[in-house]
Amino acid sequence: MSNVAAHPTLGALAGGRGLSGAALAYRPFWWEAAPRTAAAPTQLPAVADVVIVGSGFSGLSAALTLLRAGRQPLVLERDVPGFGASTRNGGQIGSGNQKFRVQHLIALRGRTKAEALLREGVLMLEYIAELIAAEGISCAFSRCGRFRGAIRPEHYEAMARDMEDLKALVGVESFMVPRAEQHREIGTDLFHGGSVLPGDASLHPGLYHAGLMRRISELGGSVEGGAGVTGITAEKGGFTVATARGTVSCHSIIIATNGYTDNLLPELGRRIVPVGSALIATDQIPEARFAGLMPTGRMYGNTNRVFSYFRAAPDERRIVWGGRVGRFSNPRSPAAYGHLARDLLATFPELADIPVSHAWDGQIGYTYDEVPHLGRTHAGIHYAIGYCGTGVSRSTYFGHKIALQLIGSPQGRTAFDDLAFPTYPAPPIARRAVPVVETWYRLRDKFNF
Ligand SMILES: Cc1cc2nc3c(=O)[nH]c(=O)nc-3n(C[C@H](O)[C@H](O)[C@H](O)COP(=O)(O)OP(=O)(O)OC[C@H]3O[C@@H](n4cnc5c(N)ncnc54)[C@H](O)[C@@H]3O)c2cc1C
Repeated sequence: MSNVAAHPTLGALAGGRGLSGAALAYRPFWWEAAPRTAAAPTQLPAVADVVIVGSGFSGLSAALTLLRAGRQPLVLERDVPGFGASTRNGGQIGSGNQKFRVQHLIALRGRTKAEALLREGVLMLEYIAELIAAEGISCAFSRCGRFRGAIRPEHYEAMARDMEDLKALVGVESFMVPRAEQHREIGTDLFHGGSVLPGDASLHPGLYHAGLMRRISELGGSVEGGAGVTGITAEKGGFTVATARGTVSCHSIIIATNGYTDNLLPELGRRIVPVGSALIATDQIPEARFAGLMPTGRMYGNTNRVFSYFRAAPDERRIVWGGRVGRFSNPRSPAAYGHLARDLLATFPELADIPVSHAWDGQIGYTYDEVPHLGRTHAGIHYAIGYCGTGVSRSTYFGHKIALQLIGSPQGRTAFDDLAFPTYPAPPIARRAVPVVETWYRLRDKFNF
């Protein structure tokens, strides 16, 4: 007889019942195929060419571009390499434009600038696709497309207008799926139809990260875990970087800490607010029941302000479902994930008996203007941060661009270069206010005001 504790079912997790003795793995499902390993600590070099702080997609993409340009980056990571959002995300890849509404962007920035930003967003998706192909990274990358379900009829109309604007301005292809036909895309009646961006993509975040790590190592680059940067001092001709494992002198620095940005550089700490996001992964769903849930095998999401995002794990019948974090609950307890199970069951009520194997969370880096930023601080330290929750393509692209800027290549220019990077009005309060703002948005989602 097995004494292995059973995974809780979605129904039990949603209802908070019968959970004593139930076992959830509180780590990203993606780490099963790409485990996080802490290498034995070695002596850090006393001198480096470029120090990159943070080992997610931004940091690794920057390192790869620097190596290809003949430079010698040293990536320093506080935890194990890939500890942050890059191995915790949903693996949904859009253009860099997912968070923008076209008319809103035009109203804020003018038509010419809006068009330039949107065009570059499209390039972000192309860049990650080309990088994965060029570097031969095996990470289940697929141009599967994305379906976004309208929670209310008026959301359907608004999406349709936005899709038309996107097509007119920058040529992005999409189509609308009316409610009467939505079972073609998804086995639920929850939505009032939806939109499909057929060019959007997906990947396995753990394998993508592992592939980047492998390439960096093959090219002679170095990624050091357990080497949190605790201080940076400007010196003549460069910087001294204090870390948990000693001091490194270097010519240049790139900060790539996104949602894990703290007050290492107060100038950046004032401009980023970390917002949590959480996911659960189910066990395998029997084939006959899985077949109609996501028949087109896309990425999925909805139109709520505090939205859900979900998909099947690559080549599996397992659902990976994401949304907000559970406030006020220990993130290593089932209670912190009950709301995700409830959201999943509101979409697929027939899955109440399906067990849940994994539950985890991570931090998104939010900027005040909801635009990602790259550039240099007053002291000449480069940074690429603030992807506002849609960062798989954005971080890969920005990492590449900030590396090109660092080496002085004109190809490093972007439409984002001349955007002012606003601070939050009261940064410590803004950080603490996240649950309040999120609750406010959830109320607006629920009662439609
Ligand atoms: C739960 C979740 C789901 C998401 N889903 C999606 C999705 O489906 N699609 C999408 O496009 N985007 C998604 N995102 C966003 C996306 O994952 C991120 O934008 C992207 O991974 C950011 O990469 P990064 O390299 O900039 O930062 P991260 O991957 O977060 O890496 C930053 C690293 O910096 C390290 N660090 C911080 N301070 C220091 C220091 N002082 N010294 C050394 N190291 C330090 C941290 O430990 C961390 O490992 C999601 C994010 C989360 C959290």
